[in-house]
Amino acid sequence: HYDVLIVGAGHGGAQAALMLRQLGFEGSVAMLGDEPELPYERPPLSKEYMAGEKTFERILIRPAAFWEERTVDMLLGQRVKRVDPAAKMVTVGDDSEIGYGTLIWATGGSPRPLSCPGGDARGIHGVRRRSDVDAIMADLPSVEHVVVIGGGYIGLEAAAVLTKLGKKVTLLEALDRVLARVAGEELSRFYEAEHRAHGVDLRTGTMVSEIAVEHGAAKGVILSDGTRIDADMIIVGIGIIPETAPLIAAGASGGNGIDVDAYCRTSLPDIYAIGDCAAHANRFAGGAQMRLESVQNANDQAKVAVQHIVGEPTEYNAVPWFWSNQYDLKLQTVGLSGGHDKTIVRGDPANRSFSVIYLKAGKFIAIDAVNAVKDYVQARAHVLSGAVLNQAQLADPAVPLKEAQP
Ligand code: FAD
Repeated sequence: HYDVLIVGAGHGGAQAALMLRQLGFEGSVAMLGDEPELPYERPPLSKEYMAGEKTFERILIRPAAFWEERTVDMLLGQRVKRVDPAAKMVTVGDDSEIGYGTLIWATGGSPRPLSCPGGDARGIHGVRRRSDVDAIMADLPSVEHVVVIGGGYIGLEAAAVLTKLGKKVTLLEALDRVLARVAGEELSRFYEAEHRAHGVDLRTGTMVSEIAVEHGAAKGVILSDGTRIDADMIIVGIGIIPETAPLIAAGASGGNGIDVDAYCRTSLPDIYAIGDCAAHANRFAGGAQMRLESVQNANDQAKVAVQHIVGEPTEYNAVPWFWSNQYDLKLQTVGLSGGHDKTIVRGDPANRSFSVIYLKAGKFIAIDAVNAVKDYVQARAHVLSGAVLNQAQLADPAVPLKEAQP
């Protein structure tokens, strides 16, 4: 039995444990996770870790001694398969039971698998866990041509790293532009051009209808128009499915994610949900119920849940932010651009340092800043206040964003 049991030893889980001790919680705390590793940073998996520029030790969120000193028990390599909210008990894979006073559900999500024929062949990799990337790196020496399916951030980052490692990369996106779900067209077109300039064969509006399989191994993809592209490795980045099944089976309300309120409480007593798996009403999306997949959201929701647990409740209101590294391009975003009705390009994309500002009914709702740290930093206050600003000034890089007038 633990006073607080955290299920999922990732970003949100680690931050929750850390916050509990930081806010003086003296009860027993355990983190239970199905991966064998101590909590580690996931973003480098498609960046420095995949590139071989950072060792695994360097991406640990905290070293082992940190958790020992704070008496956070690590129950690793175990998966929760059932939750009994009445008995306040979870059941893990080997059928042993662990009781809890409060449960924090921080289970993230699993890569959405390819649904087409051959989608489960050998040589097809997701990019979510350390083990995924280790498997990719182990195979790489004998790989010449990689097909990346999915033009979201993870697919694009993987394409950039593999290109840098000297692999021939083809990237396939079903929609008519990359990053369509998260960014405006200007940003999509910029990244498409960058990848092509680096030698990626990037194809949008391209559907994969089948994986070509020989002796159980993927040997290429077949497109909906019948074209075959040979490949030695296939990497799939087409989104995640939140890990919610045991909680939903226990009666928690939710659909795409576990529904939580402003304090990250689920509909079940003494059970909180945080991070990628938690569907919450986000103020920066006009109060729409949504899941956010970012380190910011996992960390900030961990804080909100823990504050409620220790009796210092504060509603979740954090400004969303995110980053992505591709080649020598550092993208930083603030706010949520979904629902924008106007974009303003600030600076010239040809200089590889510019920003895209997103407006909705004239209000500043988000920014994507590419190699433009100042814009990123100064936009935050505008996103927070939903400022309505002079658009000529917003478009003029000579006017610092913080000095833009109404
Ligand atoms: P996770 O960190 O995924 O942790 C959940 C843990 O729970 C996992 O270990 C999982 O195996 C475990 N688990 C699941 N079900 C169970 C169960 N039933 N029992 C026990 N354990 C279970 N975000 C950014 O902000 N910037 C970036 O640049 C960025 N890059 C990324 C690159 C990659 C390759 C990936 C995969 C993600 C990236 N993200 C990035 C997203 C970010 O990593 C996630 O939003 C964040 O990890 C979410 O934290 P979480 O705690 O909700 O889930």
